This record gives sequence, structure tokens and C-alpha cells, in this order.
Amino acid sequence: MTNLVGKRALVTGGSRGIGAAIALALAENGADVALTFQNSAGRAQEVVASIEQLGRRAVAIQADSADPVAIKRSVDEAAAALGGLDVLVNNAGIALYDTIADIKAETIDALFAVNVRGTILTTQAAIPHLSWGGRVITIGSAGAERIVGVTGTVYYMTKSALQSFTRGLAHELGPKDITANLVQPGSTDTEMNPADGEAGDYQRSLTPLGRFATPADIAAAVTFLASPAARQLTGTIITVDGGLLA
Ligand code: NAP
Repeated sequence: MTNLVGKRALVTGGSRGIGAAIALALAENGADVALTFQNSAGRAQEVVASIEQLGRRAVAIQADSADPVAIKRSVDEAAAALGGLDVLVNNAGIALYDTIADIKAETIDALFAVNVRGTILTTQAAIPHLSWGGRVITIGSAGAERIVGVTGTVYYMTKSALQSFTRGLAHELGPKDITANLVQPGSTDTEMNPADGEAGDYQRSLTPLGRFATPADIAAAVTFLASPAARQLTGTIITVDGGLLA
């Protein structure tokens, strides 16, 4: 596929899991890609090498999505390296689990700092760089629609917040012909939620398809939203969940 040739994309949390698959899929479709990571410098470089093997430009930038200063620096660095931005994928996220009865204030703050504030500030930093016809694609969670395990409540609350974020952003950026959409993965086989983990069978039992998504399944929806074919979709949600919500 070549429908993203000439496009410049930034993927937060692109060193592994869903973000790495998104970075690769965008590059396979022709985009140059900047990706951020927090700790996994070596794995981020592996993603960069894979993208370069496709003949595309790639750069990995260390930045903690909980740190407003690092976010601004990394977005500016990405835009400088690629010569601007056409696509922003807000993927970086953390999952911490506890009940409402027991969850600590620090855990709540950590979840909101990365998943919500990080997404807002990354987008804010990207807006001056985003081109006419640009895309903001944010990774939420099907858990915003259906609670899968009570210890996930606060994590899912952070993902529910991204629904309002996406709708508001669609209004704010529409006049610049920039779309804003949310992709909500269901259970997806990554280090965050391994398909062979303790809760794997339970999660599979909740879905008609009876299987986890692969990171590439999520990347396919993101690649579509980034493409010219999706120009008329904004403020909407694509849930890639194997039928969890059916
Ligand atoms: P993952 O395997 O844990 O990978 C997380 C990625 O985000 C890594 O690249 C990590 O970088 C980066 N990251 C984490 N915290 C960061 C921070 N503070 N600053 C910068 N980067 C940070 O997770 P995943 O399963 O791919 O999840 C990706 C997104 O999908 C998340 O938003 C998650 O909530 C969402 N999601 C996942 C599932 C699922 O079942 N897996 C379901 C629904 C939604 P390092 O490698 O440097 O740590």
C-alpha cells in the first residue's frame, strides 16, 4: 500500500505492543514515522531499523508522557526531524489496577497523568505542526464501554475521558480540516495484556470471536483513519474488540 506516501506521523509509545505495530503499519503504507518511548531505547531502535528497511525515515525520541516539558520537547523534535506532522497517534498509555475501595491517590494521579493529561498535552504541542488535512488518532479502550474486571475501573475512566476529548477536538480542529478519532481496542496481545496471561481465558470468553486481537489488528484501524479514504470521519469511535460489546 502507498496511500500514506509523503505523510509524516508521530506515534507515542511506539517501542513495543500496539504502538510499534502502528508505527510499522503507517510506514508500510508509505509514511515517515517518529516514535516516542519511555524506557525501551533498544526496542525503539529496532522499530526504527524495521521502518528504515522499508525505505522510510524514522526517529525514536525518549519522552515520558507524564512529563509536560518532555512532551513538548519530543513533539517539537519529531516535527523538526520529519519537516512537520500530518498524523498524530496518541497511543502511550499505562494500565494500573485496583478497586475503588483500595486505590491510592498516587495510582489515580499516575493513570490520569499519562493516559489523559499526556494525550491532551501531546495534542496541544502537535497542533501548530499539523498540516491541513491532518489526523489525530487516539487509542482508548473498549473498557470505556464495558467494565472487564472491577480493578480496572479507574483505568477505564481515563479511557472514557478520551471519548469527550475526541469529540471536542473534532469540533476544534475541523475548521483546519484535521480529523480527530478514537480507536478502542479490546483485549490485545501485548505485554500490557498477554493473551496467555491469568485473565486470558476469561477475556476470550466474553467475545463472540473468542480470541485476542493482535497489535496489527488495531494498527489496521489506525492506518485506515490516517488514510485519505477516511477524510469524512471525525469525532467518531472505532472499537476493535472481537465483538465484546455485541
Ligand atoms: P504496552 O505493551 O505496555 O506498551 C506501552 C507502550 O507505551 C510502550 O511503547 C511504552 O514505552 C509506552 N509508554 C508507557 N508509558 C509511557 C510513558 N509514561 N511515556 C512514554 N511512553 C510510555 O501497551 P499496549 O498494550 O501496546 O497498549 C498501547 C495502548 O493501547 C495503551 O494506550 C493502552 O491503554 C491501550 N489498550 C491496550 C489494550 C490491550 O489489551 N493491550 C486494550 C485496550 C487499550 P516503553 O517501552 O519505553 O515502556
